[in-house]
Parts: sequence; structure tokens; C-alpha cells
Amino acid sequence: KTFADAGIHPVMLRNIELCGYEVPTPIQKFTIPAILQGYDVIGVAQTGSGKTAAYLIPILSKLMGKAKKLGAPRPNPARFQEGVDNVIAEPLVVVVVPTRELAVQIFNEARKLCYRSMLRPCVVYGGVPVREQGGLLSRGCDILIGTPGRLKDFIGRPEVLSLRRLKYMIIDEADEMLNDDWESELQAILSEQDVGNVYYGLFSATFPKAARDLAKKYLCDSHVRFR
Ligand code: AMP
Repeated sequence: KTFADAGIHPVMLRNIELCGYEVPTPIQKFTIPAILQGYDVIGVAQTGSGKTAAYLIPILSKLMGKAKKLGAPRPNPARFQEGVDNVIAEPLVVVVVPTRELAVQIFNEARKLCYRSMLRPCVVYGGVPVREQGGLLSRGCDILIGTPGRLKDFIGRPEVLSLRRLKYMIIDEADEMLNDDWESELQAILSEQDVGNVYYGLFSATFPKAARDLAKKYLCDSHVRFR
């Protein structure tokens, strides 16, 4: 089976080709059709399994098909010339990850897969000034990747970030986040959502009770489990 059989948007197919991916990895074979069909997914997957593309490909492909309708608010160039950047970032996708390194890695993958589309990825993490990252967000953000602390921080700044248009929430390396004591930040981020309107993806290398509880709380009963 190839990517072309899966009903993926032509722009995405082209980007997959540019990335040099020829056949889907096992986890991609599972999650791509499931996410395209609108299921929440649970992926038991390690780094190296192609799990990032496993959720980015179907989600971004779907959004590419709706780009015109979605019409994410774009900054007004005239306002930039005046030095006023007051556009609230309203991402359609949020990816929560435990570390800055992983966030940057996913951001780079998202950049490749968003090529020649209207979709714009952004990444936020701790250790750099909030103001700097807020400035980047206000230039337009459709896919937001970040660590729990910094994401929670931005969610607390409604003049910078709003999750009112959120469609997909991905929790990646859930076990690591629960180990790293990010649990309260993660719960704070998740509890902001109107669960019924958001699709969820939960990826984790292991499934301790805390991760299973997260899945139980936020994912709908139709989901795919991969082993
Ligand atoms: P990840 O598990 O998301 O960290 O991905 C591991 C590596 O596999 C990354 O460098 C990806 O660029 C690469 N990759 C993802 N999907 C595929 C694929 N279908 N074929 C070949 N390489 C892939």
C-alpha cells in the first residue's frame, strides 16, 4: 500500500514525495485512514516509528482540503508596516510534547509537510522570552507545537492565543509528559477544550495507568490502537 491509495490531498502527496517517504510505516498505515475518517486515535509508538508524520499527514491533508473555507485570520500587511501586530493566533491543531527538542523536531517535520499550502506551523517552548514567541504567533499560526508549560502560559494570554478554532489536539509522548510532572499543565490545557468538537490523538511508547486515564477522559470510544 502506498500513500497515494489513502485519499490524501495532492499537495500533501507532493510534500510526502519531497520528504522522500515512499511507503507508509506500520503506524502510518493505521493512523492515516483512521484520522482521515474522523476517529480519535491512540498510537503505541516509539520515536523512529514515523509517528510524527503518522498524525501530521492525515490532519494537514484534511485541512488542506478545507483551506479556503477555514480562512484562518491573517495579519494585515498594512498594520505590520505600522508596527502593530495584534492578530490573535487561532490554531486549528495543537501538538503537546514533553521537550523543547521534540517540539523543534516536530515543527521541522510540520514545515516540510505544510510546504506550498496556506498552513503555517509555529513552535513555542520555555527558556526564551514569551514576548518573542508571542510576536511570532501573531504573524499567523495554524499548527501550534509546544511544551506544556509554555502552551499553558499562552492559553492564559487570550490577547495572543485563542483555541476557539481548535479541531485537533495531539498529545505526543504522553508517558514522558506524565513522568516529567507536566500532568497539571497538560490537564489545564486539555480542560480548556470543548471535548465534543475536538479530535484527539494520544501517542505514547508505554501505557501506564495515568496515560490510560487520559485516554479514557478525552478520547471518544471509536479509536484505533496500534501495537
Ligand atoms: P518519528 O518517529 O516521527 O520521530 O520519525 C522518525 C524518522 O522517520 C523521521 O526522520 C522521519 O522523517 C522519518 N519518516 C517518517 N515517515 C517515514 C516514511 N513513511 N518513510 C521513510 N521515513 C519516514
